[in-house]
Amino acid sequence: MSGDVLRLLTTGSRGWDDANLLRDVMNQFELEAVMAGASKLIVVHGGAKPRRDPNTGRFPARSADHLVHLWATLLPHEIEVVPEVHAARWTAACDPGGYPPCPREPHRKTRPAGGRSYCPLAGHRRNEEMVAAGLDHAVAFWLDRSTGTADCLDRILKAGYSPDDVTVVEQRSAR
Ligand SMILES: [Zn+2]
Repeated sequence: MSGDVLRLLTTGSRGWDDANLLRDVMNQFELEAVMAGASKLIVVHGGAKPRRDPNTGRFPARSADHLVHLWATLLPHEIEVVPEVHAARWTAACDPGGYPPCPREPHRKTRPAGGRSYCPLAGHRRNEEMVAAGLDHAVAFWLDRSTGTADCLDRILKAGYSPDDVTVVEQRSAR
């Protein structure tokens, strides 16, 4: 990483709950950005929030995107750290002209408890948008090889970035 403003793309699993490991990894990237002479670190993430705890009404400390956002906005930093959120538009209309495009066949799903239907490809389009926005480095907080994170990693490499541009922090949930 080098340059005045660095863009760190972060991707990860919604079930990720190791906040300490995530913070350590993010601190290390910030340190590297400082050493590279950067004055600003833009942290790109997908804005996936965990489901609210129905008892407390609060968001639990889970979901890599959510934890990255808390790290960026709540903790003190040596340089300016700014989150750039690319939230997936799950409940928006399907997009046959998007990338990846929606097929003509019915493919929307409905969450069991919800009722509003969503397009499962919205997450892929969000990943594409994050990668297209550009990055100096990417880090994945990958739990149980979740498919959304795998898709984002694929898109980074297909966009022409090198595996050296990507750091994968992988965990398996305890059984
Ligand atoms: Zn669709």
